[in-house]
Amino acid sequence: MDKPKIALYWCASCGGCEEAVVDLAEKILDVVNLVDIVFWPVAMDYKIEDVEKLPDGSITASFINGGIRLSEHEHVVKLLRRKSKLVIAYGACSAWGGVPGLANLYSREEIMRYVYHEAPTVENPEKIRPELKTKVEEKITLELPEFLPRLLPLDLVVDVDYYIPGCPPTPDVTWKAIETLLSGNLPPKGSVLGALDKSLCYECPLNDTKPEKVLIKEVKRPHEVIADPSKCLLTQGLVCLGPVTRGGCGALCIKAAMPCTGCFGPLDEVIDYGGKAISYFASIVDYTSEEEIEKALGKILDPMGVFYRYSLPASRLRGKIMLVER
Ligand code: SF4
Ligand code: SF4
Repeated sequence: MDKPKIALYWCASCGGCEEAVVDLAEKILDVVNLVDIVFWPVAMDYKIEDVEKLPDGSITASFINGGIRLSEHEHVVKLLRRKSKLVIAYGACSAWGGVPGLANLYSREEIMRYVYHEAPTVENPEKIRPELKTKVEEKITLELPEFLPRLLPLDLVVDVDYYIPGCPPTPDVTWKAIETLLSGNLPPKGSVLGALDKSLCYECPLNDTKPEKVLIKEVKRPHEVIADPSKCLLTQGLVCLGPVTRGGCGALCIKAAMPCTGCFGPLDEVIDYGGKAISYFASIVDYTSEEEIEKALGKILDPMGVFYRYSLPASRLRGKIMLVER
């Protein structure tokens, strides 16, 4: 009997999600025994033309990581959608935009200007920028994909069947998701695979030290304090987003005495992760004067980076430039 075919593809992300697959370690041999990998540009020499030749719907599942930022991403994910029974948004960038999605706070022109002209390490006196088409010889023109006006999560470009959270997904979450998909006992469309349907606090080893009603008097940045590893980080003034973040990672950051930054994203009922995080945080700060509030907010130097670090493109805000371009 033919093995299920799977594809893996990398859009706008750091590459950590590709490493996360390799982090399955010896379990990757089980995966290779159970499925045929028909497309995985980072690891195998298949080309887009090979995917084009496959019958529509013949790939059992495509795992796509990264947000959609280039015309090439858009083209390939639409192709994979056509060729696949299931499309899975793998990792925070694909699911909600992730860290690269914070670039939606800037226009294309602002990004290009900074990257090619203004960044401290750039030496570009002729102000050269990449062109979509460059003629290098009489009959040879090189083409680059277009840099799209803003980054989109996968489900704003193609229909997505399931989500696997994390920045990157842990090997445990990836393996559980693969087992669910191979079991044939598929959960409802749109489900998050491999993680919990409870908040991170539920699995946090410090949860017993978190009072029913948390109130904090002072906000501290991680480098300002040596956190007590036996006490809930939030009660120590660190902005830990565990209460509003989906559990399933095994509380990795907390075990390293670092607050959760929210990479497993929202629970099912939450529409806007950042909005939920801001509202939760506002409900636990115990300030009485404007001066105290100003002082506390001054410790959150980059509110978008703190509360929308992984989810700006999927939020109600989408980004500052969504109504301006495209
Ligand atoms: S707020 Fe953070 S440290 Fe405290 S119990 Fe929740 S996840 Fe753990
Ligand atoms: S603790 Fe939070 S930021 Fe760290 S891996 Fe888990 S969900 Fe992600």
